Amino acid sequence: MDAAGRFARYLASHRLKMTRSRRAILEEILSIRGHFTADDLLDHFRRRGREVAPATLYRTLARLVEAGLVHRIDMAKGQARYEPMFGRHHHDHMICLRCGKIIEFENREIERIQAAVCRRKKFRLLEHTHQLRGHCAGCSRTGAAARSAFASGGIDVRSPGRNPS
Ligand SMILES: [Zn+2]
Ligand SMILES: [Zn+2]
Ligand SMILES: [Zn+2]
Repeated sequence: MDAAGRFARYLASHRLKMTRSRRAILEEILSIRGHFTADDLLDHFRRRGREVAPATLYRTLARLVEAGLVHRIDMAKGQARYEPMFGRHHHDHMICLRCGKIIEFENREIERIQAAVCRRKKFRLLEHTHQLRGHCAGCSRTGAAARSAFASGGIDVRSPGRNPS
């Protein structure tokens, strides 16, 4: 079944119809590569001369997430990012809390252990997301440089998350 078919089936199960704007939003999303915000998507529509009401877009995006066709990535600050999951290989994300960079990764061992944990709990796993939050390589380097500059002062104000010891 294609993405439109899956969305139509989801909508029908919620007593909703596949309207023209819902279909247009789905098609637009499927043509996007990478991670985007709801505002990026609105801009994308405007640039192509296709107006869509922001409220309709936000609601449809939430439906697509619920239907499992779009993945939502919550950021520490700023807007959530979205990406189409249909036809894409499963992957998880690392999110940099400093610069907002999103790094995709796949780890068979994590997936395997997770499935085993669910089996033990007799939990039927339908989907999952891993969002690992921290600092990317570039930001860690910047952080380390900032820390060494502060070292002479004795107090490291740049790492509030560190355990006091
Ligand atoms: Zn995974
Ligand atoms: Zn970063
Ligand atoms: Zn991704």
